[in-house]
Amino acid sequence: MDKIDKGQNGDARAEHFDVLILGAGISGIGAAYHLKEQCPDKSFVILDALESFGGTWLTHKYPGIRSDSDLYTFGYRFKPWTGTPIASAAEILKYMGEVINENDLARHIRYRHTIASAQWSSADNLWTLRGKRTETGEPVVFTTNFLWMCQGYYRHAQGYTPEWKGMDQYKGAVIHPQTWPKDLDLHGKRVIVIGSGATAATLVPAIAGDCAHVTLLQRSPTYFIPARNANPLADQLRSLGIDETWIHEITRRQILHDQAEFTRRSFEEPHKVKEELLAGVRAYLGPDYDIATHFTPRYRPWQQRIAFVPEGDLFQGIVSGKAEVVTDEIERFTRKGILLKSGKQLEADIIVTATGFDLSVLGDVAFSLDGKPVDVSKTVTYRGMMFTGIPNMVWIFGYFRASWTLRVDIIADFVCRLLNHMKKRGAKKVTVDLRPQDRGMKLLPWLDPDNFNPNYMMRSMNLLPKRGEKPEWQHAQDYWREKDELPQVDLDGEEFHYVGQMASV
Ligand SMILES: Cc1cc2nc3c(=O)[nH]c(=O)nc-3n(C[C@H](O)[C@H](O)[C@H](O)COP(=O)(O)OP(=O)(O)OC[C@H]3O[C@@H](n4cnc5c(N)ncnc54)[C@H](O)[C@@H]3O)c2cc1C
Repeated sequence: MDKIDKGQNGDARAEHFDVLILGAGISGIGAAYHLKEQCPDKSFVILDALESFGGTWLTHKYPGIRSDSDLYTFGYRFKPWTGTPIASAAEILKYMGEVINENDLARHIRYRHTIASAQWSSADNLWTLRGKRTETGEPVVFTTNFLWMCQGYYRHAQGYTPEWKGMDQYKGAVIHPQTWPKDLDLHGKRVIVIGSGATAATLVPAIAGDCAHVTLLQRSPTYFIPARNANPLADQLRSLGIDETWIHEITRRQILHDQAEFTRRSFEEPHKVKEELLAGVRAYLGPDYDIATHFTPRYRPWQQRIAFVPEGDLFQGIVSGKAEVVTDEIERFTRKGILLKSGKQLEADIIVTATGFDLSVLGDVAFSLDGKPVDVSKTVTYRGMMFTGIPNMVWIFGYFRASWTLRVDIIADFVCRLLNHMKKRGAKKVTVDLRPQDRGMKLLPWLDPDNFNPNYMMRSMNLLPKRGEKPEWQHAQDYWREKDELPQVDLDGEEFHYVGQMASV
């Protein structure tokens, strides 16, 4: 690390690093590991607004918080996962802490650093990042040659709560799971959890034992996969004394194979897959439960994320009578609870709004190029990693249908290959731009709503970069394709533009 006495605009003590990683979540820590392994000559720093590592797994503290995909694939490819497939936030944080310790990454991380702006100077081929110490407000300035955005996709400070009529009249507490109060006493309370996603499905069984009663109130149902929280293959290999590194790799391959098959079937025979998913729920709830109303989604399997429900705990809660599902729409809040469009009234002491996230594009950092503000929604994405016209910058946006981290590992390989390629060429700057053959290509929203359409993405799609019709210009949302395609990308292809000399010239 170099200390530069003056930043580009005369700021005192801007610190310089070859690579700056923004975010110390599962993406940022993975990025740092690969950078250290594959580009050992690069100096780097990881900045995060929070007080520790973990991102999502640090922010969310609601009861029962856990992954909804398996940790064999949500874990990194380089560090074996040895626990149950579905893991608690605490277990994920422990795993990430081990990655940090085993690879001596802690000294590269600066916590409590909130970055507000990133300015590119073409004269210096350098980014300047400005921000503040999260707690004291003291300004901080960094310069870097290459910016690796690992900021996730939603605002950590608060979740998304819709505005319902009459909310101000409600006498009880309204709580979003993202900002769960440490000392919340649920004992003997009547609780409504609004939402139908993985968060609601996790929270309801986790609090059912404490509350007097809990109601899951949803506008429309979601698909779930209830099953044992175990991987029989991993367990068998373990019982045979196989090395954990092998178990990790073999189990990952098995899970990825099964997921590829499931994804293919959800496109090719959606009705059959739907029936299988509903049969899984019926097995817990019995033939008399109204599955048609409460657990039969209106969309095709995989158009939204499908949450795994370990041991079917949500359904066990319903069968036991401690939890109830109501499928209806909210007319308005009342003094005592919620009036539904059907005319039914629900009373509650506490209302939990498990209604999702506030999408944040690039960590709410204001980007500018040579003094001109950048509107990322006007750019086109290169494979969901880079953006036309924005130099020396990659972001990590993982998968929705497969574990997010699978993409962290393969994007990291790409970034390290790009950095090493730039070094070989003597290039100081790389940008991507549409090729002559891409002119006139139809530009579309980031996500195809027919393919995948969660509400938090649909609400804010206009903020995200554009997608092109060709595979180079879109986030494939397909690990199985990208794992083969990304290593094959020709870094001297027409879409890449470098400033700087070939080493041999
Ligand atoms: C409750 C929950 C459960 C989930 N379960 C799964 C799952 O089982 N499987 C799966 O694949 N995905 C899951 N996801 C999606 C999940 O968010 C991602 O998989 C993954 O954890 C994202 O990691 P990340 O490092 O990219 O982003 P994050 O975890 O969001 O971390 C980003 C970090 O960047 C920091 N940051 C952002 N902007 C700035 C800034 N301007 N300045 C400084 N720091 C900044 C934040 O403070 C944060 O620490 C889940 C999400 C939630 C909310």
